Amino acid sequence: MGISKSDPIIIVGGGAFGLSSALHLTQKGYTNVSVFEKDDNIPPRFSAANDLNKIVRAEYEDEFYTELTIKAIDAWKTPLFAPHFHQVGFLHCVSGGAPEKAVATLSRFRASAEKAPKDEGPDPAWQLQGALPGWSGYLNRFDGYAHSGNALAGVYRAVQAAGVRFFLGEQGTVDEITHVSTVNCRKAAGVRTKNGRFHPSALVVVAVGAAAARLVPEIGKEVVAKSWSVAHVHLTNDETSALRGIPVTYARDLGFFFEPDPKTNLLKLCPMGGGYINTDPKTGVSHAPLTLSESAFLPEEDEKRLRRLLAQTLPSLADRPFVKSSLCWFADTDDSDFIVDYVPNTSESIVLLSGDSGHAFKMFPILGSFITNLLEAPDNVQRITRWRWKQPKANAKDDWGGDVSWRIGQSKELSAILPSKAAKL
Ligand SMILES: Cc1cc2nc3c(=O)[nH]c(=O)nc-3n(C[C@H](O)[C@H](O)[C@H](O)COP(=O)(O)OP(=O)(O)OC[C@H]3O[C@@H](n4cnc5c(N)ncnc54)[C@H](O)[C@@H]3O)c2cc1C
Repeated sequence: MGISKSDPIIIVGGGAFGLSSALHLTQKGYTNVSVFEKDDNIPPRFSAANDLNKIVRAEYEDEFYTELTIKAIDAWKTPLFAPHFHQVGFLHCVSGGAPEKAVATLSRFRASAEKAPKDEGPDPAWQLQGALPGWSGYLNRFDGYAHSGNALAGVYRAVQAAGVRFFLGEQGTVDEITHVSTVNCRKAAGVRTKNGRFHPSALVVVAVGAAAARLVPEIGKEVVAKSWSVAHVHLTNDETSALRGIPVTYARDLGFFFEPDPKTNLLKLCPMGGGYINTDPKTGVSHAPLTLSESAFLPEEDEKRLRRLLAQTLPSLADRPFVKSSLCWFADTDDSDFIVDYVPNTSESIVLLSGDSGHAFKMFPILGSFITNLLEAPDNVQRITRWRWKQPKANAKDDWGGDVSWRIGQSKELSAILPSKAAKL
């Protein structure tokens, strides 16, 4: 199509992909950019990135993503992002009881980590008072974490100052993309929001994370709304202080935790695993629940896993109540590849940015360059083949959750793990 720098561009979603896209588009000289976000605030409560922290690690089993993250880490060190990046290292392990799959995955990550720049330092595990029974692994000092909620807020302020318009709440909830018909296909005319207004645009960029299949139903089961849980324990000032600078500590079979947040004294934990899906029995497509309250709990099996993780690493916290527990929804694909491409048969008027597969936040500073590169591709063809549109497969395997190399366990249906109180309602 060839969009001009002054054409109206609508980005739907004010999460990681949406905000980074607004940033890169303005930096490239696009002057008419608006972001529509369904929450009343940014960082939005519905964004998978609205969190205390996310791991920023360079090593992947796949060199393509390792190289991207090394670029992203350079960008995390620039003034807009540096306040939110903490290069404390990444202690990547398996516990003594880990299954063979976790041990094998760890050794592939270790091989990749060998490529990152290194320096020696103090004993990485001195702050872990637990016995670490049977633990083995490695420390990569090049890695760390980002305060993701604050990073979203920082970019929000920066792009607002650069002239990006924001529509939030009902005004920003996009109910549908409206189309006009052309000779051979259709073309987006703009979006209609929950308050009934129509906003015209030349390009609609869909960056709605786990809600991708709601706004772009053509993607079908190729994007699966999936969730992992997060939980926190509340520390005293002294406990927070004692864990200052601790590396992100990750046992592949138990989960991980971060340096406590000095403002709130919260230590965040995440058990990972195969994740939870919410499949519509009529279509077979998994969608994130529409309200936050449906996800505000910690599944029993995750709680047990996190209790084991704490008992082995920080035993004084092993029985501390978990607070602020919830399921956090992301957009999964069966090969963990992102989707950064035009929606077919829309005359290049809709771009889908999705399929984060639970690993995109580390690239927040550079995510937006993926769309500016696509817009500048001379023939409108996504050069990176693995990020092209995924045509729904006729005989797609439904339950591939357990096949993902870097996760342990099968995906489970949300309905099967709801706490008994909620299940009775
Ligand atoms: C528990 C958990 C842990 C994770 N840990 C890591 C990690 O350690 N490192 C890492 O790199 N990545 C991690 N991730 C992945 C990371 O959070 C995601 O890759 C990233 O947030 C995806 O960004 P996104 O923009 O696609 O979606 P989101 O950030 O979820 O943003 C989507 C936005 O779209 C909005 N929206 C949805 N529908 C509409 C609509 N109709 N109209 C308007 N707005 C709408 C939502 O409100 C939301 O704000 C983790 C994810 C989870 C769930």
